[in-house]
Amino acid sequence: MERTTNLSKVSRTFFEEVMKSHMGRTLSCCYQCGTCSSSCPVAEEMDIKPHEMVEMIKLGLKNTLVRCKALWQCSTCYMCTERCPQGVKLASLILGMRDVALREGIVVPRSVEESCKNLNDTGRLIAPSRFQMEKRLKLKLPSVPSIDTESIKGMVNKTRVADILKVR
Ligand code: SF4
Ligand code: SF4
Repeated sequence: MERTTNLSKVSRTFFEEVMKSHMGRTLSCCYQCGTCSSSCPVAEEMDIKPHEMVEMIKLGLKNTLVRCKALWQCSTCYMCTERCPQGVKLASLILGMRDVALREGIVVPRSVEESCKNLNDTGRLIAPSRFQMEKRLKLKLPSVPSIDTESIKGMVNKTRVADILKVR
């Protein structure tokens, strides 16, 4: 990841847009203690660490943020939000940035697309594999109940998941 800031890439409108939201208003309270990053279970894999994301939103670095891998690596465990001493709602801000990324037409990682497809087709983000089904049978466990996906498909159609799956 680029560690220098090119001022031509700064988007004031992005910062202002985020700050207008209920969650965005918490950003100004961040004093860069790094607790969010040290609490995050996936921070080690992220190209932009959680505390850096906060600073980058403030700097209006929208283009870098919506293209970073970390945006989709976040497991939305809310640990950063729980532990932040300043009440910064980072997990929700990341969800908001995903929305911005989709609006900008950024291609999502394959794994995200796969999870969306599983959700639409089976009602589960991770569909049980044939191996798991056979194992359950062998252990005399009840089979995994199927889910009525009609309401899920309705939800998918009303959200940007439909754009990811190109089903709209
Ligand atoms: S834990 Fe909160 S205050 Fe500390 S760096 Fe993260 S967002 Fe900022
Ligand atoms: S919500 Fe995302 S950024 Fe925050 S701690 Fe969990 S994985 Fe890390």
